[in-house]
Order: sequence, then structure tokens, then C-alpha cells
Amino acid sequence: MVKVVKFGGSSLASAEQFKKVADIIKADEARRYVVPSAPGKRFSDDTKVTDMLYSCYDRAAKGKNFDAEFDAIKQRYYEIIEGLGLTISLEDEFATIRACFIGKAGRDYAASRGEYLNGIVLANYLGYDFIDSADVIFFDDSGKFSSKKTYEILSDRLEGCERAVIPGFYGSMPNDTIKTFSRGGSDVTGSIVAASCNADIYENWTDVSGFLIADPRIIENPEPIKIITYKELRELAYMGAGVLHEDSIFPVRKAGIPINIRNTNKPDDFGTMIVESTSQRPEYTITGIAGKKGFTSISIEKDMMNSELGFGRKVLEAFEKNGISFEHMPSGIDTMTVIVHQAEFEQAEQEVLASIHRNCKPDSIVIETGLALIAIVGRGMRATRGTAGKIFSALSDSKVNVNMIDQGSSELNIIVGINEEDFDTAMNSIYNAFVEKK
Ligand code: ASP
Repeated sequence: MVKVVKFGGSSLASAEQFKKVADIIKADEARRYVVPSAPGKRFSDDTKVTDMLYSCYDRAAKGKNFDAEFDAIKQRYYEIIEGLGLTISLEDEFATIRACFIGKAGRDYAASRGEYLNGIVLANYLGYDFIDSADVIFFDDSGKFSSKKTYEILSDRLEGCERAVIPGFYGSMPNDTIKTFSRGGSDVTGSIVAASCNADIYENWTDVSGFLIADPRIIENPEPIKIITYKELRELAYMGAGVLHEDSIFPVRKAGIPINIRNTNKPDDFGTMIVESTSQRPEYTITGIAGKKGFTSISIEKDMMNSELGFGRKVLEAFEKNGISFEHMPSGIDTMTVIVHQAEFEQAEQEVLASIHRNCKPDSIVIETGLALIAIVGRGMRATRGTAGKIFSALSDSKVNVNMIDQGSSELNIIVGINEEDFDTAMNSIYNAFVEKK
């Protein structure tokens, strides 16, 4: 059995956290390949090493003195090294990095050093091999992840290596410069490493015990989600439920490897298992609820719209031509509503409206802003009668007016549009309808 384990920045922010990480790794023989992030925040006002590197490099690139910023970064690593009682020195590494900062090696190079150095320290502490991701993870000339080359070289390398630390977040370009994934990208590296060695599982260790049924900033103490499918996760993530980098799903999903989100500070918690499919029904019919504010609806009305060929296309073309993607499109016989992100729509609002007027000659266009969308997601809804009824009675009991309803044809989700002011009330009433009254 092979497990790939990725540890996030807060799991590796201090010597104390490093010790927890080593205990977790040592507790299971199968945890052979380890992907670390850079040291993250030790307390809420702290600064992540990645951010320290970006700002330090920005000073260097402008030709300003960056000694103080550079020393503060060194200090973070030396604190960890001393706290663990290690004898390695990173002085040569720091000298190289300093020279590269002066030589303007690039922001990506700078940021990647956080993971690189943390990888060296962790490998030393665990007694594992260190594999520099620049030698095994590749991007093409356009900066896209180069999967074929990576899988070939990385699989080979892992095959010849019993246990190794492979730093997250970066790889190299065809011209040998360093490139990073977008922020939070160590999750992606972990997924690529798992796919490369055909791991049985990809464990992603962070500072929460997996996904929760709803956002804890809105619902008090929400229940955790034990098992979720990739499709459900996609729906919830789209509505803002974060934890995992979006691009980290693809490599493991394609290889049929499940992801287990775990909590470094509570290693006994089961966490959330993310799987392709499962026979296990979710505990509460719904798997999760997530929502976002900041939407606008544009309702276009025209008598006999239903028989006018090409009407919908012309409406959508007005959005497309102005670079605005639409989120939902509920429609009636003579009305069609397009829901968009307010922030995006604002930029080209008048152009879009003029274009609809010109091409579609509608009877009226009504714009409503301040709309929030809530997605109620669950593979269990398909087989359960009355889910929609339960949602709408909960909303009506708590006096929330529903502006829009959209049910995906897969019966995996129901989306309701409400006024932003009702957001918290709506979330709570839906949550309570399914979870507490079980
Ligand atoms: N250290 C990087 C960041 O802060 C990448 C990661 O942690 O995944 O975004």
C-alpha cells in the first residue's frame, strides 16, 4: 500500500507542528511520499513564508535593500531547525537564493523557495530522500502543466525511491526557470505525485477535519461531511466551499485515487473522504450547503418569446460578446432570466442591455441586484422524496422569499436565489431542516 501525504502550511509552521507531522508519517508505513507546503501562519496575525518571500523579492527586484526581510525568512527556518534539534545548515542555500534575488530570478522562483527549503528540512528530519520538484514536475512553454513528461520522469524517480519528500507548489519550465502553480498549489503537487505512483490514497493534511456540511462562519458547529463524491465537491466548491485547490482534483480523479482530507492537529478525526462514487448514502439526504452573494438577475420579457426562433441565443450573445459568463438561466414561457456576477456585469452593463434591446426587441428588461444563491447539494436527493418540499417549507417558515429556483438535471443539487439580507437566515433554516431535526 502506498499513501501520498501532503501537509499544508499551518501543519508545518513551527518545530512543534513538524513533530506532529513526523508522528503522523511514522504511524503508518504506507506514508512513503510526502509533499510539504512552505511554513504557514503560527498564529492568526502571522505572515506565511510564501508571502514573506514575495515581498522580499519585490524589494530586491526594485533594487531596494532587502536584508531585514531576508533575515526574517531565515529566522523562520532556523527556529524550526533548532526546535527540532537538527544539525543541518541552510547557509549555502540562502546564499544562492540571495544571489538569485539580486539576479532577478523571478517571483515564482522566489515563492517556490518556501517549499524547497521546507522540503529539505523535513526530509532531513524524517530521514527520507529529498527530490527537488524542479527535476520532476514540468510545465510547457505556455506555462501549462506538462502531464506526459512529468508522469514519465516522476514515476521513474519514485519507483527507485522507497521514501521521499517532494516539495509542493512548483516545477520547471523548458528553459529551466522555476514556475509555480497558483496559490495553494501544493495540493496540486500532492495530487500529481499520488497519480504518478498509483497511490492507494492521497491524504491531504490541513488544519480542519475535512469539509463541513455548511460554512462555520454562518452555521454554529456544523457537522462534518464524512464522504463526498467529486461531483458533489465540485458543486460545493463552485459556491465557495474551500479547503482544496480546484486543480488538485483532476490528476487523482482520473487515476481513481480517493482523497482524504485530515487534520494535523486532530489526527484521530476521520476527516472527509472524496471519492468518485460510493454506495454509502449521506447521513442527512443532503451532503452540503454552500452559497455566495453578489449576483444580479436580468429578466427579459417578451410576448410570444417561446415561438421566436433564436431568441435565447441572441440574449446570451449579448453577454458573450461583452465577456460576461452567465451562472444560471431559469426561464418561463415569455421570460428569460440570466443570472450573472454583479462585479463582472457592472463593467459592461450598458453595452449588454443595448445589445439585447437592439437584437431581441424585448417588451421589458428588469434588473435586480443583491441576489444570493444557495446550492443544496447531495447525491441522496435523487432517491429521496420531498427534498425540495422540505427546503421551501424551511425557507417559508423563516419568512425568506425565494426569487429563483434551479434544479440541475442530475438531481444532484437545487439552487435557490434569495435576497442577500436573507442569506444567513436561509442557510440556517435549510441546515436545521435537514441536519438537526434528523
Ligand atoms: N505556499 C504556497 C501558498 O501559500 C502554496 C501552498 O501552500 O500550497 O500559496
